[in-house]
Amino acid sequence: MTDTPRAAPAEEAWEAVIGLEVHVELATATKMFCGCSTDFGGAPNTRTCPVCLGQPGTLPVTNRGAVESAIRLGLALGCDIAPSSQFHRKNYFYPDMPKNYQISQYDVPICRGGALEVSTDTGTTTVGITRVHMEEDTGKSLHIGATGRLHGAEYSLVDYNRAGIPLLEIVSEPDIRSAEEAAAYVAELRAIVLALGISDAKLEEGSMRCDANVSIRPRGSGAYGTRAEVKNLNSLRSLRRAVAYEIERQVTHLEDGGEVVQETRHWDEDGGRTYTLRTKETTEDYRYFPDPDLVPIEPDPAWIEEIRASLPELPAVTRARLMEVHGLSREQVAVLAGAGLVAVLEEAVEAGAEAGEATNWLTNEVVAWAGERDADPARALAGVHLAELLALVADGTLSKKLAREVLTDVLEGGGTPREVVAERGLEQLSDEAELAAVCDQVIADNAEAAEEVRQGNAKAIGALVGGVMRATQGKANPQLANKLLRERLAAE
Ligand code: ADP
Ligand code: MG
Ligand code: ZN
Repeated sequence: MTDTPRAAPAEEAWEAVIGLEVHVELATATKMFCGCSTDFGGAPNTRTCPVCLGQPGTLPVTNRGAVESAIRLGLALGCDIAPSSQFHRKNYFYPDMPKNYQISQYDVPICRGGALEVSTDTGTTTVGITRVHMEEDTGKSLHIGATGRLHGAEYSLVDYNRAGIPLLEIVSEPDIRSAEEAAAYVAELRAIVLALGISDAKLEEGSMRCDANVSIRPRGSGAYGTRAEVKNLNSLRSLRRAVAYEIERQVTHLEDGGEVVQETRHWDEDGGRTYTLRTKETTEDYRYFPDPDLVPIEPDPAWIEEIRASLPELPAVTRARLMEVHGLSREQVAVLAGAGLVAVLEEAVEAGAEAGEATNWLTNEVVAWAGERDADPARALAGVHLAELLALVADGTLSKKLAREVLTDVLEGGGTPREVVAERGLEQLSDEAELAAVCDQVIADNAEAAEEVRQGNAKAIGALVGGVMRATQGKANPQLANKLLRERLAAE
């Protein structure tokens, strides 16, 4: 075992092959096969009923909204929608699954054969979408004890509130070739899910979950190597780190004469490594069979067309449009999109703001503010308010410095920019007579600097403008102060 990373040439001899399985919890009001609420945060086991608790004699009924969400995503990814698909029972025992089987889809998923275009710094690639299928979520086990994990727990409790919440599983082809591409794929898929409004898709909170299948092969080889599947990737950063670690681990292992075993591994965020969780189940272990309680899903073609017609603009199209129509750079658009601020920008532009300027405020001040507070900036700022703020700068009511302060207040819920300005008495001081009096006082207090300006040292005026700004707590219109000072010092 050596702890120095392998030199690049060894890595260049190998190529990584990655396929991702992403689960998305749907934002339907009710669960997949019963009427229980999907609201997060209820007291344990309060959002349950005989159906999602798997009581004998109960019958599941498919949630139409979940089917619609699956079709929406399938269409957005360019998949074929199956005229008839089925639910299967995936049999296994685990305490968080009351029926001892999970209702899922098997050989005929609702969507098949799409594609997703993914861009990284090194280029753009198309990742095939093998399938999108519907299934139900499991409950949650809580292991009580010092470790918080099953191992070492004194006892465990089960909360079935999540059991039966609708999930979509999106399976990619093994078309991804690097950790960066894997992260870009998930980011793009997430953007699409958000644009479609079918889930809040929060990796950190588990409403979007990702497993990475990683293998390596000699560069140039057409065959696939044995893969390991890595679980517990609950941020893009974890995904990137885990895939990079796994590639490195497999390369090292193969070069040392070992073999990669097909297994499930767990990403340890703190340790920065993956470790064996279990050897992989095979499909046969699950004894899949069609669920006899559920009718096949046979969406009316007219309904599918209705859904197609209702699809929003997809993120890739939005980004291209922002670049073309508003002249924004790829980086600017990436920052806006990453922060979820595209709609805010568009609303600001609609309300009269200049796109480049509005983008600068959003990608600098607003993104920084949101990062510090871990807040969602799109919730904190309406586009019309950004436009209003920029108008206040343009008409001289606010200096840029004051505008920044006003923006912070607006972001923190202090009201509209005009309201904040009125409440805090922040209007820029542009009244000539009032400002002239301040200038006279500053000249009197700074005789030396004033004399230098009179002697022709134009730069010395900076100190006087600074004095005016201080005397007015930053409210003076600096251009006007400059002009008034000059007039006074030239006249004497
Ligand atoms: P399972 O359900 O057992 O995990 P699947 O056939 O559904 O198996 O494949 C799961 C994922 O593994 C897919 O995203 C697929 O692209 C990926 N995959 C399959 N073979 C490989 C491989 N050799 N290397 C990397 N990823 C792979
Ligand atoms: Mg899998
Ligand atoms: Zn229920």
